Amino acid sequence: MLAASDRETDVVLIGAGIMSATLGVFLRELEPSLSIQILESLGDCAQESSDAWNNAGTGHAANCEMNYTPQRPDGSIDISKALQVNVEFDLSRQFWSYLVGLGAIADPRSFIHPVPHMSFVHGAENVAFLRKRFKAMSAHHCYEGMEHTESPAQIAEWAPLVMEGRSGDEPVAATRIITGTDVDYGALTHLLVSHLVNQPGCAVHYNSCVTGLDREQGGRWRIEVRDAASGETRSVRAKFVFIGAGGGALPLLEKSGIPQGRGYGGFPVSGIWLRCDDPEINKRHHAKVYGKAAVGSPPMSVPHLDTRVIGGRHSLLFGPYAGFSSKFLKHGSLLDLFESIRPANVKPLLSVARDNFDLTEYLVGQVLQSEGHRLAALDEYFPKADPKDWRLQVAGQRVQIIKPDVKRGGLLEFGTELVGADDHSLVALLGASPGASTAAFIAISVLEKCFAGELTASAWLPKLKQIIPSYGVSLIDDADFSRQIRAATAEVLKVDNIPQPAARAPMAAKRA
Ligand SMILES: Cc1cc2nc3c(=O)[nH]c(=O)nc-3n(C[C@H](O)[C@H](O)[C@H](O)COP(=O)(O)OP(=O)(O)OC[C@H]3O[C@@H](n4cnc5c(N)ncnc54)[C@H](O)[C@@H]3O)c2cc1C
Repeated sequence: MLAASDRETDVVLIGAGIMSATLGVFLRELEPSLSIQILESLGDCAQESSDAWNNAGTGHAANCEMNYTPQRPDGSIDISKALQVNVEFDLSRQFWSYLVGLGAIADPRSFIHPVPHMSFVHGAENVAFLRKRFKAMSAHHCYEGMEHTESPAQIAEWAPLVMEGRSGDEPVAATRIITGTDVDYGALTHLLVSHLVNQPGCAVHYNSCVTGLDREQGGRWRIEVRDAASGETRSVRAKFVFIGAGGGALPLLEKSGIPQGRGYGGFPVSGIWLRCDDPEINKRHHAKVYGKAAVGSPPMSVPHLDTRVIGGRHSLLFGPYAGFSSKFLKHGSLLDLFESIRPANVKPLLSVARDNFDLTEYLVGQVLQSEGHRLAALDEYFPKADPKDWRLQVAGQRVQIIKPDVKRGGLLEFGTELVGADDHSLVALLGASPGASTAAFIAISVLEKCFAGELTASAWLPKLKQIIPSYGVSLIDDADFSRQIRAATAEVLKVDNIPQPAARAPMAAKRA
């Protein structure tokens, strides 16, 4: 028998991944009287994309991911997207630091570790690109401390495995920034969920699959839930619903029937890593080394050789190798893609299929890859890799957004998007990049979109500035404050910082 409080709540968060967990903690810190329920179809939190091995664990600050710094037709490098992603990560760092200060996270080393971020290229054209990219980025305070080299010896010092076994005939180049991080988003999600549900009025219900969403007279949402074990159904009523169901968000958005969701579709891309757990090899690599994407490949399939720290153990990860599966979730159904097709999204889906032949060709190539092809790709980053040291690890599913477009019929997007009801009572998060790293930015965007009336000086704003001292200030424009925030969060999170000549004042909220 369910308690009345289980049938009636202020907030329902669908899905127990990093996004719902982050939003739930923000909401509860800002409004301690809110009742919050998380409904999760699986038996624990962080079992889909947020699980440590289902993603790469990069604290995406656009340090090393070259897809965020495209070359303009005139040859110059556009770093605007990189700067945006870079400062979005500052929001997550502040949020996590706040939680450490609160005691909700006892030791930051349980989820975040300092790991330098490197970009590595070979071939004259790519070397020239990286040189220009470095010049543009290192001139900005957000990338202070970025290093660049075209010396094979220097790269070998930074990342020996990447250089051993190379002929030395080809030009190579690398950049490095020591402030990079590896993040175990699975461990972090567990910490956030347990902090949340330890508070009165908050609960997580596992094995609770949301099957329907209906608008009631009076504006509340009735959420239909099926118990995965018993098959029994029940309903929960809520004033506000966040669909943070990862790949499962699109079908739920469709079920909500809100007109803003009309025409959206999803394109699933699966992923595989190669993983090495040999401590003798792993102790010789301490970096996340990102390369350049192959022509036609989606931006998130840029190959990288990464240090991972999961559950206190060091591993190496290489990949991802993209693939195609019609499932929207790793634990999903092969029917997911087909069941998401509606009359309103047929045109966008067909237009995207017509306009993205390169991507289709790339994915077909990836699906047909043999083990030999996979090892050849690894060879480019670790020429002396021995196949016997590596094993396959299946990554999470990503569902890329297909959105309706008046001109072209439909567009394929690689970012994330919040799609919400007009009255702000429900919002769904679609897409997966830059991903978990920007969970705090996404949570703040939900607050701004759906709770704007509460973000005032007499309501939630003072507390929000306590959690995010830079709220309302552009860290892209304010160099001093950016340095101050980074120094303070680096100290709390025990990650590396670029040393500054003079001691700076402790972090405090700045008046916007
Ligand atoms: C291969 C790969 C590599 C990545 N690398 C990085 C990286 O290096 N850095 C980074 O920051 N991000 C990365 N990401 C992205 C990141 O993992 C995701 O953005 C993030 O984990 C999404 O979190 P989420 O909470 O939205 O979704 P998820 O973690 O997928 O959680 C969604 C939850 O909703 C539940 N659910 C679904 N449908 C229902 C339903 N009907 N009822 C109840 N529950 C439901 C699911 O079971 C799941 O637990 C990567 C992703 C992939 C796939």
